[in-house]
Amino acid sequence: SLAMDAGSLTSSLSWEAQTVLRFIEEGRQKTAPLRLDDLPFQRANGEKGFLGFTLIPLRREKEENSECFLFGADITERRRRENLRNEFVSIVSHELRTPLSVIREGVAQVAEGLKGPVTEAQLQFLEITQRNIDRLSRIIDHLLDLSRLEAGQFRLERRPCDLASLAREVVEHFKVQADKSQISFQDKMPAGLAPVLVDGDRIRQVFTNLIGNALKYTKAGGSVTVEIKQTESGLEASVTDTGIGIPQDSLGKIFHRFERVSKIPIPGVGGVGLGLAIAKELVELHGGKIGVESELGKGSRFTFFLPFVSEAELLAEYLAQRIEEAKRTGSFVSLIFVKCQNWREIESREKPQDLGLIQTQIQDVLSRVTRDALDRIFPYTEETLGLVVVGVDKAHLQAVTERFL
Ligand code: ADP
Repeated sequence: SLAMDAGSLTSSLSWEAQTVLRFIEEGRQKTAPLRLDDLPFQRANGEKGFLGFTLIPLRREKEENSECFLFGADITERRRRENLRNEFVSIVSHELRTPLSVIREGVAQVAEGLKGPVTEAQLQFLEITQRNIDRLSRIIDHLLDLSRLEAGQFRLERRPCDLASLAREVVEHFKVQADKSQISFQDKMPAGLAPVLVDGDRIRQVFTNLIGNALKYTKAGGSVTVEIKQTESGLEASVTDTGIGIPQDSLGKIFHRFERVSKIPIPGVGGVGLGLAIAKELVELHGGKIGVESELGKGSRFTFFLPFVSEAELLAEYLAQRIEEAKRTGSFVSLIFVKCQNWREIESREKPQDLGLIQTQIQDVLSRVTRDALDRIFPYTEETLGLVVVGVDKAHLQAVTERFL
């Protein structure tokens, strides 16, 4: 890796240099290290590649701007290998799914006696087979999820969501298993928590992985507590168990892929060490953080934080992503603003409670002209809607606006 100063970058790069300079400015306000990945660049021989930067601020408390270390490295080859690995994992796991579901169906039919009588001993074997088919299919699902997450192909469907009811759904799902293992659930979720804009399915998965683990690593008689606290900037959810705990020197590693503390499998506990890696990716995709505290023999507490975000912040983030993508691929992003000319008149004529509905109807009309899954409509002011059109340049925007008519 090479260390370079920001000034010399400005002369050789333009938009890229600005990105790095902004990154340095951001880093100088912080105390923790920052990463900037995948900045496109061109080698002297014309080959395209990617740079990665790490910035380590040397800021002491209360200092305004401070010095920092900036490391830059050519990460093209690493990216290429990662992409290849991801693609490989994704194809293999996808291909494994179909034969596995055929096997599952076959075993189920035999076990249910549809292919003739089964003895008690045979049934026992079939049940073990079924449990392992389930386990294998969970592993495959996890592998697929993780490779998609790492390839950046995951798009969040954010909607206002009541985190407590989501957590209770997951608890409900685990009730039978918990009863069987004689583990009780405690609920510390106050009523009236503010909704958060999250992808409900994804956050459900985070709860599923954490609560599933808590049950796996807790002995009979123990308990699992699910708690949610509201802070000024977001919601903090935690899953606490009275289980076997995690040794201090492993705490930093358990969120890595394929990392398991105990190499000797606990009977009945199957896993490959992917659940926490997925939970971490999903929480971070929401702009959140996940962490763990644990004491060996006493229990563990996993905590994740989901920040409150506004629609406007999401839009800004979304636009920045689209623009960066367009820069990278040499494509375009366009913005169209559509103003309802007689909005004031409508406003004075209609009942206030109907105005929202009218706005939604206008949005619906606009959504018919969008073609790309990435196109997005957003409210700009009361009377003006914005439309982000991906992959269309100025010369061809006319064709899009004509679809309104
Ligand atoms: P696995 O499929 O092995 O459970 P995870 O990624 O979910 O994979 O967890 C990684 C490792 O972290 C586990 O193998 C286990 O050693 C440890 N771990 C996770 N949750 C707990 C917990 N609640 N109590 C004790 N150990 C845990």
